[in-house]
Amino acid sequence: NPVVAVVGRPNVGKSAIFNRIAGERISIVEDTPGVTRDRIYAHAEWLGKDFNLIDTGGIEISDQPFVTQIKQQAEIAIDEADVIVFLVDIKTGVTDADEQVAQILYRSNTPVVLAVNKVDNPELRSQVFDFYSLGFGDPYAVSGVHGIGIGDLLDAVIDKFPTQAAQIEDDSIRFSLIGRPNVGKSSLVNAILGENRVIVSNIAGTTRDAIDTRFTSDDGAKFTMVDTAGIKKRGKIYENTEKYAMLRAMRAIDNSDIVLVVLNAEEGIREQDKRIAGYAHEAGRGLIIVVNKWDLVDKNTHTLDGFETIIRQEFQYLSYAPIVFVSAETKQRLAKLPKLIQRVYQNHTKRIKSATLNDVLMDAIAANPTPTQNNKRLRVFYGTQVAIQPPTFVVFVNDPDLMHFSYERYLENQIRQSFDFSGTPIHLIERRRK
Ligand code: GDP
Repeated sequence: NPVVAVVGRPNVGKSAIFNRIAGERISIVEDTPGVTRDRIYAHAEWLGKDFNLIDTGGIEISDQPFVTQIKQQAEIAIDEADVIVFLVDIKTGVTDADEQVAQILYRSNTPVVLAVNKVDNPELRSQVFDFYSLGFGDPYAVSGVHGIGIGDLLDAVIDKFPTQAAQIEDDSIRFSLIGRPNVGKSSLVNAILGENRVIVSNIAGTTRDAIDTRFTSDDGAKFTMVDTAGIKKRGKIYENTEKYAMLRAMRAIDNSDIVLVVLNAEEGIREQDKRIAGYAHEAGRGLIIVVNKWDLVDKNTHTLDGFETIIRQEFQYLSYAPIVFVSAETKQRLAKLPKLIQRVYQNHTKRIKSATLNDVLMDAIAANPTPTQNNKRLRVFYGTQVAIQPPTFVVFVNDPDLMHFSYERYLENQIRQSFDFSGTPIHLIERRRK
């Protein structure tokens, strides 16, 4: 999906505009431990066009002077976005900081739509014309607080979306490596590509800056490693900020079938690892936990099991994810990755016939009676798979409120014991039978 970034100096009202555009669709992360609500990235839609929205204002680069901060936020927008919404404030008029943002945006090729915020009443409209001096054409008058003018602004934004390049036929498995800075993502990218036959690199991805690399493994399976440019690119100050790492991860997750969550064996598990893994889980992607820098760990016969136990404790919601211990440095176990990714992909796209599924469900119910509430017993009539990626099952019942989460988990476990769904979340949805 195209990416839209909102930029502008502090206090122009970026988050109000962001929330207006994202509406109800802001990804609200529930249930997953360690994951906080992040308001810098959201899925949005206008007139049937889906896009992703970034609030660069949410990416704070600490210890930097004010001017450097806003310049860097503008650079992030240029790096990440297909269209930039440059937000200014009618109350202050054009400020020096606005001019500086404009200078940076002007030098890039990214299309910019200028929006003048806080135009809360019609009398202010005439002042909007002052902003022509910034050199981005017609300014759009909006009010984030009152929700005025957002539609016109979005019309202008989607007008500037890149026209879809002819889709290259893609029968490859798309995967990405995500993780906090320095866990070894780019080293792994290089090591994996070094071990396999690269067909095309620098495929321009669906978005401006996402560069994908195609390769085939020994057995001829095709893969696309997503967003390797973002990983390989180095040397910008904001690269190592946590919010930016999150943003990168969320974008990579969006564009992948399978996500490799990379941990650093030497440093163990940190909060940020949990947040990043939480997003991948929420997104319903296939997921593999890759513990890198295994060469740096002093090992005895229990080291691996011990580490695995800790991971299972810390990432309880990822109990379905396989764990591999690798080293980008010594290439240990890297050759196993293509097979593992393929297997997870097969599971992520697996379809179970209804008859087979219902055999499993009915056996499960016979072995462990359904829960009751106020003398009313849950009755399960039948189940059917309604989607893949991730496999999603609808279970028809007498009353969805009678389904207890522990019973739902029991059913999920029974399904997992009957079919190989390793590496993929599976979703169970209860519906009242009509
Ligand atoms: P990224 O920020 O996640 O892309 O991490 P990098 O790939 O830049 O790696 C960070 C540092 O860890 C670099 O100095 C790498 O050389 C080093 N590194 C990465 N993988 C390994 C590994 O498997 N073993 C060892 N010993 N060092 C590694």
